[in-house]
Amino acid sequence: MKDCLFCKIANKEIPSEAVFENEDVFAFNDINPEAPVHVLVIPKVHISSLNDVNEENSKHISRIFEIIPEIAKKAGIDESGYRIVSNCGKDAMQTVNHVHFHILGKRSLQWPPG
Ligand code: 5GP
Ligand code: ZN
Repeated sequence: MKDCLFCKIANKEIPSEAVFENEDVFAFNDINPEAPVHVLVIPKVHISSLNDVNEENSKHISRIFEIIPEIAKKAGIDESGYRIVSNCGKDAMQTVNHVHFHILGKRSLQWPPG
């Protein structure tokens, strides 16, 4: 999608520190990390938020969950643990309208989050 930051990152129009890529999924380090490991995982196709996931596009989301264990292992957090976050909409403070999953790890994380 034109003018979408994460579409541009997935297309390499905007540089990022890639940590994983296949034909459906792109993963890269968050520019403003909230933990020693903070990776963002996105579908290459534009889906604005979790509210827009449906029967037609959900395979792009399931691909993300297929590769999260691989990313976690590469980052060395598969055994220590990690958190997956997807902020949806205003109250959750979603700031980029291309669905994405944060992988946070290598520190103790509080629950419930603020
Ligand atoms: P949200 O607040 O929408 O859940 O998460 C958006 C995330 O994208 C934030 O953690 C923010 O730091 C990250 N981010 C915003 N712009 C860029 C960018 O240009 N490059 C990278 N790598 N991360 C970004
Ligand atoms: Zn997009």
